[in-house]
Amino acid sequence: MPKQFIIRHAKIYTPLTLISDGYIVVEDNTIKEIGREPYQGSVAEQINAEGLIISPGFIDTHIHGYGGRDTDEADVDAIYTISRGLAKHGVTSFVPSSVTMPHEALVKIAESIREARNEWRPEKGARILGLHLEGPYLSVEKAGAQNKKYIRPASVKELEEYIKASGGLIRQITVAPENPGALDLITYAVAHGITVSIGHTNATYEQTRLAIERGARKATHTFNGMRGIHHREPGPVIAVLEDDSVYIELITDFIHISPPVVKFVIKHVGPHRMVLISDSICAAGLPDGTYELGGLKVIVKNGVPRLADTGALAGSTLTLDKAVRNVHSLGFSLRETLMMASYTPAASINALYRDKIGLLAPGFKADIVFLDEALNVVKTMIDGEIIYEKN
Ligand SMILES: [Zn+2]
Repeated sequence: MPKQFIIRHAKIYTPLTLISDGYIVVEDNTIKEIGREPYQGSVAEQINAEGLIISPGFIDTHIHGYGGRDTDEADVDAIYTISRGLAKHGVTSFVPSSVTMPHEALVKIAESIREARNEWRPEKGARILGLHLEGPYLSVEKAGAQNKKYIRPASVKELEEYIKASGGLIRQITVAPENPGALDLITYAVAHGITVSIGHTNATYEQTRLAIERGARKATHTFNGMRGIHHREPGPVIAVLEDDSVYIELITDFIHISPPVVKFVIKHVGPHRMVLISDSICAAGLPDGTYELGGLKVIVKNGVPRLADTGALAGSTLTLDKAVRNVHSLGFSLRETLMMASYTPAASINALYRDKIGLLAPGFKADIVFLDEALNVVKTMIDGEIIYEKN
């Protein structure tokens, strides 16, 4: 007998539509049926979700660490610490991100992602979708918190080795289009099903256009680590915002980007192109103090991580539940806001139909977040199992 249960009387955001009094039938780890109450069938095991909001679990496509551990450690336990921690914040899938490092170190990280993904079970926490290589083919001028020492010309040969070491799990790569060899690398990455994201770049508008023509389809923490907008040199920001085929990552902690700019950008691109990310580092979920990112010293004060020597922002301590509350506070509807944390991130890395996540519909994974009216996470379900419950 397959394991079966029903979630009843929930306010369901699929998130393409809203079902104000809805039910979801789950069989094993998959959604079997979704509809409006009253449910006509008979399923013995019931979860009463009256008064709760339901959305597909959040999907963080750009995150370095959480709870004292980092992707850069190339350690399976580190990845699982992040997985478990993220489940508390409603995240059911994530793409661990590396930073710019020597080749051998990145190969080791790719291997650890493969191993973590192979041994993953729902009890471990959020699903591991693959690796986001943030670098090393970036701009030295726009390195931000990336270690300039290891920034280098784009190498298809190196990328081939990362793909191999990860067992085909490179999901996203951040590239500066003006980096030598970048355009050929973009063509290669796109042909291998990797989402190419434009970022840490000092490219002109024209150079950014060339990357989009080669298949780049995303912008890494738009505005941050990017040449700014000038009315005679629109640069990468205008190039990515104006093209409907490009997904836009934003860090909405209201520190990396001021709220009026967040509002302006979302109004311009719409929720179907907006990908909320945390870009969090190991300090997320921990108090202020001294930490490390890619071998560089980071000081976290009032929750804001900065490089000790330059003062540059070094990732964040944001979590996606907080990002959702922030964006909703700007006046965007809950349906649109939840879409930016689930459906659109999944679409941006081709995970909607490949991994069956990001949408509550028959055939999709039972990865579900339960929220209260104030948008606090009450329960997180992964693969049909409750992994986190607020007490
Ligand atoms: Zn990052």
